[in-house]
Amino acid sequence: MQVYTTPKLNKVKVTSDFWKRYRELVVKEVLPYQWKVMNDEADISIAEDPQNNGQDKNSHAVANLKIAAGEMTGHHYGFPFQDTDVYKWLEAAAYSFGYHPNPDLKQITDNLIDLIAKAQDDDGYLSTYFQIDAPERKFKRLQQSHELYTMGHYIEAGVAYYNATGNEKALDIAKRMANCIDNHFGLEEGKIPGYDGHPEIELALSRLYEVTQDKKYLDLAHYFLTQRGQDPAFFEKQIKADGDSTDRDLIPGMRDFTREYYLAAEPIKDQKVPHGHAVRVVYLCTGMAYVARYTGDKDLLAACDRFWNDIVKRQMYITGNIGQTTTGEAFTYDYDLPNDTDYGETCASVGMSFFARQMLNIHAKGEYADVLEKELFNGALSGMSLDGKHFFYVNPLEADPAASKGNPGKSHVLTHRADWFGCACCPANLARLIASVDEYLYTEKGDTILSHQFIANDAEFDDGIQVSQTNHFPWSGDIHYEIQNPNQAAFKFGIRIPSWSASYELNVDGAAKTLPVKDGFIYLDVDGQSLTIDLKLDMSTKIMRANNRVSHDFGKVAVQRGPVVYAAEQADNQAPLWLYQVSPDAQTDYHFDEKLLDGVGVIKVAAKREKLNADDADLYTEAKPADTETVDLTMVPYYAWANRQDGQMRVWLNR
Ligand SMILES: [Zn+2]
Repeated sequence: MQVYTTPKLNKVKVTSDFWKRYRELVVKEVLPYQWKVMNDEADISIAEDPQNNGQDKNSHAVANLKIAAGEMTGHHYGFPFQDTDVYKWLEAAAYSFGYHPNPDLKQITDNLIDLIAKAQDDDGYLSTYFQIDAPERKFKRLQQSHELYTMGHYIEAGVAYYNATGNEKALDIAKRMANCIDNHFGLEEGKIPGYDGHPEIELALSRLYEVTQDKKYLDLAHYFLTQRGQDPAFFEKQIKADGDSTDRDLIPGMRDFTREYYLAAEPIKDQKVPHGHAVRVVYLCTGMAYVARYTGDKDLLAACDRFWNDIVKRQMYITGNIGQTTTGEAFTYDYDLPNDTDYGETCASVGMSFFARQMLNIHAKGEYADVLEKELFNGALSGMSLDGKHFFYVNPLEADPAASKGNPGKSHVLTHRADWFGCACCPANLARLIASVDEYLYTEKGDTILSHQFIANDAEFDDGIQVSQTNHFPWSGDIHYEIQNPNQAAFKFGIRIPSWSASYELNVDGAAKTLPVKDGFIYLDVDGQSLTIDLKLDMSTKIMRANNRVSHDFGKVAVQRGPVVYAAEQADNQAPLWLYQVSPDAQTDYHFDEKLLDGVGVIKVAAKREKLNADDADLYTEAKPADTETVDLTMVPYYAWANRQDGQMRVWLNR
């Protein structure tokens, strides 16, 4: 009998052309651009914020830290959580050092750590709004204050920065923050028996626990998760004590959202479905998944499974986007998936990627990696333009400039990416995901290495094990692995068979092989010095339909090839796009165009187009067969839409 080892992953180098382009873009464009914006040195406009947060200043985020540190005078400007823009940017920069050493940038980030340390209070507290303008109100209006959310984002950045650079000060700031929170929160006499209105601290403390192994931080994360909703009136009581008048609110209108919106109406273990603000939900779920795994808390684990199923099976767009309404940036109800008024916040897709990655650590099931892949190649990635300097907050599946301009109910849907936002949570959130994508490719479970993403890479594990994956994914489904195992360690190597590839061909050391698919993975036993694996996935173009409980997609089809969902744009097709009809068995033709949109697969779909009525024709006439013509509809990857002229876009096409 073989004795299996537990191969630990040490290092991953992303070699995928597709992802190398994005990761270098983060270094060369995204990080310098965002740093300029946060220092108010960029000539940009934030007028297009989907929540109409357009204000008279662009960011002021670094200035807030300077004021708190005593290096500048003035007032805090922006949202109470304005600091988090800087922290997410810092975290993205930290990850970038792993693949692109950059002494100039490191000088900036080291100085930033010094500034943050200087801004931190002696007791570890750091949230510049309260330090500068409302020190007497610290932790007194947690429904709206985002203090733990803000510090959570620093903790994540501090952990990442310490891991990347060894900077002890960065980690020390994080520990002092967590200690401050620990001193103030809990069920002991004199502590606040509460939690933040916006989850984030739970996942951040889990990450701090991972690097410090100090159980106090895990216990505190567990406390926040189990205490949530125990007293559903907690936020209201705090507001009453802090001064009930609405002009005391930190963010106007936030008190009007329901307890469900804050995931605080009842304890998590009793919550059947994830109501409320989509980003809050997936951050909470990520924290739950971390803590459930480390503590074995069965209630939290059950909640993870329950929330996952509801989101993925009933409330997720085909692109992976989540959050169906702009009102509260929130989930609505099962199978409600409107395409032209949806929200689909970039942060929600980034958060869903975090959740999926944590769920893979709990269950070796391909469905989590399928969703992670869906986000990476669609819903999350669409949040940034190909130039790295424009961003979507809202990711619609159907857009029309005339509708966005003329219908107030669609004014949150932009048809081009914006420079920046008054609430600028999304741009740096996506940057940190792209810069850390190397951390999303493998999951080690017991004696098994799971290779669940087809993002080409070279990976090094303990025992001298090296895995090299080469491919031209997502354009080609030919996946080649070389495994080197000089010490002949025995382990299992699991490869995901994606749900979009019904069939596959496998060759191991040149011999065809058939293996059973178990929960989305095939498993090979490895114990020799080397192994060569060739996997051929089914990359045929698929015409997709939605479950017929989804009224918005009934009678419609979408086009997908591999994990990439396609969109029709006015830039390639004569508008209006609703006049096109595509049959489920339509002929399709795929080619790769290296010149278009920095290199994309293009799909031509045989379609019928109804002739547009004259503009003075009657508004209503008796329905008779309409004049149609046969045309090719040109489709490009959804993530790359809105990189040319403003125009209509549709993912779901009339059948
Ligand atoms: Zn966001």
